[in-house]
Amino acid sequence: MKNETLFISDLHLSGARPEITQRFLRFLELRVRRSAERLYVLGDLFDAYLGDDDNFSPNREVKSAFRQLTDCGTNVYFQHGNRDFLLGERFARETGVSLLDDYEVIDLYGVPTLITHGDLLCTDDVQYQKARERIRTEAWKQSALSKPLWLRRLYARWYRFKSGLDKKGKTAEIMDINPAAVRSTMGHYGVDRLIHGHTHRPAVHELEIENKRCQRFVLPEWGNSETVLCWNQTGFHTEVIEW
Ligand code: MN
Repeated sequence: MKNETLFISDLHLSGARPEITQRFLRFLELRVRRSAERLYVLGDLFDAYLGDDDNFSPNREVKSAFRQLTDCGTNVYFQHGNRDFLLGERFARETGVSLLDDYEVIDLYGVPTLITHGDLLCTDDVQYQKARERIRTEAWKQSALSKPLWLRRLYARWYRFKSGLDKKGKTAEIMDINPAAVRSTMGHYGVDRLIHGHTHRPAVHELEIENKRCQRFVLPEWGNSETVLCWNQTGFHTEVIEW
């Protein structure tokens, strides 16, 4: 019976780590397809996504696996991460996956729940937020996508190198979410539950906003162990996927 809603993020799939892609494909086939009515992918599914016209591994395999999954009746939703924000409508059409906005409030078994990748909440990283604003415009994306794939690949390598250097100059606090941003965003959307990824600091945080008990779920990255956040009518649990 399909009666679960699953959340994952930050798998960082790439041609360089085919074993994680293999695990993900098995996870979709053996775990998600069997029991999930909904799968939410909260961004950074891909380590670098260069456009819907890139059909190299792992994009090709992931697309056909999503197609099978949605054909079998599981609804799949995708939010953009900072590494796969070029994923677009063509991907959605080919896979049956629904693309979501950066912030979405979903009905999670009766409780309105805010979901987001998480990078927007890292407001202390001013340099990152400035760059994000610049590259997330339609004009920037169209101009990037108009470049030949080999050139985009080259840019991506350079970007990864540069962002590695930038990170060295930033403290862990700067790259984590800002608690005030969490409060104001949850208040703005009127929710007492938030689920996000991006920081790779898995936890369930309890907090109080205007005398209301609130919860913030942070999803883990995939790589060393693969974990999924599972919800159903009775509540949630995290599940480490055993192979
Ligand atoms: Mn991210």
